[in-house]
Amino acid sequence: MSAHICCSCGTEHEPLLPTAPGAAMCPQCKRQAAILLAGAYELVHRRDVPPRVVINEYVEIAHAFYDQGEPSFINSVLDRVARQVRPAELVK
Ligand SMILES: [Zn+2]
Repeated sequence: MSAHICCSCGTEHEPLLPTAPGAAMCPQCKRQAAILLAGAYELVHRRDVPPRVVINEYVEIAHAFYDQGEPSFINSVLDRVARQVRPAELVK
């Protein structure tokens, strides 16, 4: 079984499925994408939760899995999403 190259970070990793063709994300990038997607979903659809709370919760989740730059990357992406979809709540 040959290693795959992650289409996001470019590192080599074992394919998740032996028959999966071509590039796919490595497990670390998939997890980061899942955290971003879930956080963005809450920012857009859970208007009862303040955006700062959503961002802080997903940065905490990121800290459970990563100890390098990923939590601050997730913080900055979710902050940009929040400024796009809920700007009035971030002014104060
Ligand atoms: Zn990767």
